[in-house]
Amino acid sequence: LVQLFRPLDLLGMVYRTIRQGVIDMGSMFDLVDTPAEVTDAPGAQPLAVARGQVRFEGVQFGYDPDRAILKGIDLDIPAGATVAVVGPSGAGKSTLARLLYRFYDLTGGRITIDGQDIARVTQSSLRAAIGIVPQDTVLFNDTIGYNIAYGREDATPEDVADAARGAAIAGFIQSLPQGFETRVGERGLKLSGGEKQRVAIARTLVKNPPILILDEATSALDSRTEADIQATLEAIEQGRTTIVIAHRLSTIVHADRIVVLEAGRVAEQGTHAELLRQGGLYAEMWARQAQEREADTDLAAE
Ligand code: ATP
Repeated sequence: LVQLFRPLDLLGMVYRTIRQGVIDMGSMFDLVDTPAEVTDAPGAQPLAVARGQVRFEGVQFGYDPDRAILKGIDLDIPAGATVAVVGPSGAGKSTLARLLYRFYDLTGGRITIDGQDIARVTQSSLRAAIGIVPQDTVLFNDTIGYNIAYGREDATPEDVADAARGAAIAGFIQSLPQGFETRVGERGLKLSGGEKQRVAIARTLVKNPPILILDEATSALDSRTEADIQATLEAIEQGRTTIVIAHRLSTIVHADRIVVLEAGRVAEQGTHAELLRQGGLYAEMWARQAQEREADTDLAAE
């Protein structure tokens, strides 16, 4: 399965972030100067987020000019709503999220935030407005506090502590002999999948963005951890416009709207109940995953 931000993408993102001077990490990385994929339009102004309404209008995109991936997507995400994007592997779910972050420019249509075309605002202001909780969190070889503060350049220790509480990882950190000063990453304390995800959530909370992209992990955590993290995520979605790239439908039943992508087009959209009633692709996917869940439960019971 293709992840939303793969390591190379992430490296590119970190690199671009450095170039934009959003976070001064120049001392950490010494990367060769390659052209960025997208650049600020001449006279680009900072994005002014009022409510956080996101619209995709006739969005067309392909990584290669001769292979269209998104073939005209119209999507209106009301400010503060949670919209889940589901669909078969390769349908273009992650691509949709990457385009909102403006990793690439569109080949047709436009994406707006509160009416402003994202191709016409500065990239640094766009990216400051969007928080991403990725599938796999990259931890820096530094302290856990640093890893959380990385979400925002001027975060204070209080901001970091608040974010850790919001991500329900403060208790765990306090139980460590060195607390927030504990070194993590390759050469430090190895965190579990769930703990890493909570660091990513805390990092996002420090940033406090009006728009959130949640890229659901495909690798299953144990069901108790997953339910706990799910509850934390639902709490941080409050008051923010949220796009969830979902693989397990059971985690997005609560979404205000579910959008089903198929081969680069919106095949269906509605609430969970509406889509089940329609008896289309979503209902089929739901039935299949329900069977898998039952099989798992039977296995666990044996
Ligand atoms: P999954 O559920 O498997 O994560 P997805 O719906 O998120 O899938 P995308 O990652 O958006 O799908 O990919 C859509 C299509 O675009 C796929 O056919 C994929 O091979 C292609 N694709 C994705 N990233 C790139 C890239 N960086 N370069 C070229 N093609 C890509």
